[in-house]
Amino acid sequence: MRILVSGAGVAGLSTGITLGNLGHEVTIVERAAHLRTTGSAIDVRGEALEVADRLGLLDSIRAHRVRMTESSTFIDPEGNRIAGMPVADVNDSPGDTEISRKDLAAILHAALPPNTGVVFNESIKTLHDDGETVQVGFASGNQRQYDLVVGADGLHSATRRLVFGPESDYLKHLGYYVALTELAPQPALEGASPLLNLPDRMVGIVCFKDSAVGVFTFRSPWIDYDYHDPAASKQILLDAYAGHQEWRIPELLDAVRNDPELYFDSVSQIQLPSWHSGRVVLVGDAAHCASLLSGRGTSIAMTGAWFLAESLRQHPADLAAALTGYEHLQRPRAERAQATAPPGGELLVPATQAAIDARNEHFRSLEPARQ
Ligand SMILES: Cc1cc2nc3c(=O)[nH]c(=O)nc-3n(C[C@H](O)[C@H](O)[C@H](O)COP(=O)(O)OP(=O)(O)OC[C@H]3O[C@@H](n4cnc5c(N)ncnc54)[C@H](O)[C@@H]3O)c2cc1C
Repeated sequence: MRILVSGAGVAGLSTGITLGNLGHEVTIVERAAHLRTTGSAIDVRGEALEVADRLGLLDSIRAHRVRMTESSTFIDPEGNRIAGMPVADVNDSPGDTEISRKDLAAILHAALPPNTGVVFNESIKTLHDDGETVQVGFASGNQRQYDLVVGADGLHSATRRLVFGPESDYLKHLGYYVALTELAPQPALEGASPLLNLPDRMVGIVCFKDSAVGVFTFRSPWIDYDYHDPAASKQILLDAYAGHQEWRIPELLDAVRNDPELYFDSVSQIQLPSWHSGRVVLVGDAAHCASLLSGRGTSIAMTGAWFLAESLRQHPADLAAALTGYEHLQRPRAERAQATAPPGGELLVPATQAAIDARNEHFRSLEPARQ
């Protein structure tokens, strides 16, 4: 089949590998000019480790392992350590592997088979599925026909909007916003990742390899703004932390002001009754974003790519059966991942000082038992 994949994140690249390995002719279009590799370290967990193994990538992923979560500590406003992150409670299994988004993207990109290519600075503008093929119009003005279109274009998927309707029909805001800003390396932190909680707010610096990322997560009802407008995102974040002089907050806000690639988004999930329609199917966050509070979005993006290919392999002559089969396999995994996000939010961003103190007390009580 001629297959178009929209988006070159973990879901799109993984799908490019699994479908390309089946012998299909795969084109991935990525709206950005390059792979988007900013962000903190992410987890490859559970069945995603098996997928990585079957794709021959597990050794490379393990070789780039970082220990950002293990190095995370909760601090007070003066920067003193209060409690460590209870890693055994956060991970699913000891084999769970943290890796920087940049390294994972590079590993996946290098594993694309020769029949799979990535076109940067390109995106889908129109889609017409006549039952036999999908006619795609691109932002560049090009037009092409495909047998299958895979939307792997993230939380704000354009493919989903074109085929399933407006995002507001499917997006469930969890009540938080998140921002990530790249910082200069922080040798003085010696690999530690300090996190400070104030009521309704978390701010921290996470360190992995020689990278450092400023992290902000705050509670807020839904905010209507143009998420394509970086200046609007920055202003919302600066307003949320305005007046806070604790710890290194002023310095981190300066980094935000000067960041040309600030990552800012609502912490939201995507809940769609079906992920496929005709010759179009969704994978990764476009289908079932669990949010970064779940810590499982990357892993389920990888399992989804695997199940999609498996199901296409099992039903070579029946696309509808293949896409239904993919959903049947992947949906319970996505629902399990989505269920983990709200408790994650309560732990990472307690709403009151009393809740922060109770969380810290609980985490401290776990420490001696593990030594
Ligand atoms: C810049 C960035 C930083 C992130 N940082 C973190 C983090 O620190 N921690 C964490 O847990 N999760 C993070 N995430 C989310 C995490 O990557 C995903 O939840 C998970 O890996 C599933 O990935 P995905 O490929 O489905 O979606 P995404 O990672 O969002 O990838 C979607 C890709 O599609 C591209 N795209 C979007 N719209 C279009 C379009 N119209 N046409 C073509 N391409 C399009 C995007 O540029 C992006 O490359 C981040 C995502 C991004 C984009």
